[in-house]
Amino acid sequence: MIIIDEKTIFDLIEEHKPFSVALNGPDGMLPRVQETAVNIMNKFGIPAYVLADTTWGTCDLNSNGAKVLAAEILFNIGHTINTPVFEKNVFMIDAFDDVSFNSVAEKCSEILKGKTVSLVTDSQHLNQVDSVKNILESNGVHVKIGKGKGQLNDGQVFGCEFYPAMEVKDQVDANVFMGQSNFHASGLALSTNKPTYVLDPYFNEVRDVTEFAQMLQRKATLSIYKAAEAQTFGIIVGLKEGQLSKTFALKFKQELEKEGKTVQLFALTDITNERLRNLKGIDAFIQVACPRISTDNQFDKPVLSTPQANAMLKILRHENIDEYFQIPHWL
Ligand code: SF4
Repeated sequence: MIIIDEKTIFDLIEEHKPFSVALNGPDGMLPRVQETAVNIMNKFGIPAYVLADTTWGTCDLNSNGAKVLAAEILFNIGHTINTPVFEKNVFMIDAFDDVSFNSVAEKCSEILKGKTVSLVTDSQHLNQVDSVKNILESNGVHVKIGKGKGQLNDGQVFGCEFYPAMEVKDQVDANVFMGQSNFHASGLALSTNKPTYVLDPYFNEVRDVTEFAQMLQRKATLSIYKAAEAQTFGIIVGLKEGQLSKTFALKFKQELEKEGKTVQLFALTDITNERLRNLKGIDAFIQVACPRISTDNQFDKPVLSTPQANAMLKILRHENIDEYFQIPHWL
């Protein structure tokens, strides 16, 4: 069950005395966020709006939604990071899942006994890293936990940011990801180029996602080579506040024009195949927002992420593109 740190929310409301607040969180957590909003309204008698649009990460807080509603505080729930507040009134609230990893950690020990692993997880399971480490080590698995950097805590990864795992990758045989997210685990496999296992406590199974990650890489590489043959490019700036990167967009425009390509500029909040179908005369796109939009979705035309676009520029200059995903941050 997801447990939201309501005490911190209530303390902040007592302290700031807002006339209204807004709350948001990852899709899977929304029913619990609704309950917290109801608890706020009952306790304080102020409106508490649930912003039910997506909030994929700290890159996508939707603070504009709170501004439009004139909510004085936005509580962004569940993206546990080491930065407690943004823009003075967007408070990051921790939420943890209390599901037990005991059984699946024992299973994992049987598979990886004698090996050294990097143990990592997503925001909701950070509270259980130490207990899983203890179970693995008491069953003969050697465990490393890489140091956090930027917004990441020790042992934490995002879908595009892998500093703790990259720090220890040369000392380990494999990655072990605690949670259910093939999305995070496949990124981890691609950035570290190591076998990667998901420790899924809900299905009580240990999944090897290495082949799935390689399939994503083959698809990404095919798009890069297809895009290299394009003449007219559309460069898309993402309008989500933490994904806005005009600098990269204009840098790619300049580099492509040097290679004799034609470039048009676009901006979108949600970059989907349906939206791109409205745009005519473009052979390939580069989007400088969330890199996983490109790797994890299907598009009619090549839609490259930032690391893929860098690799494509290398192809145009007849350089080697090996290891283009093996970087700690894909933006
Ligand atoms: S993977 Fe995408 S949504 Fe997740 S943190 Fe990175 S940019 Fe944001």
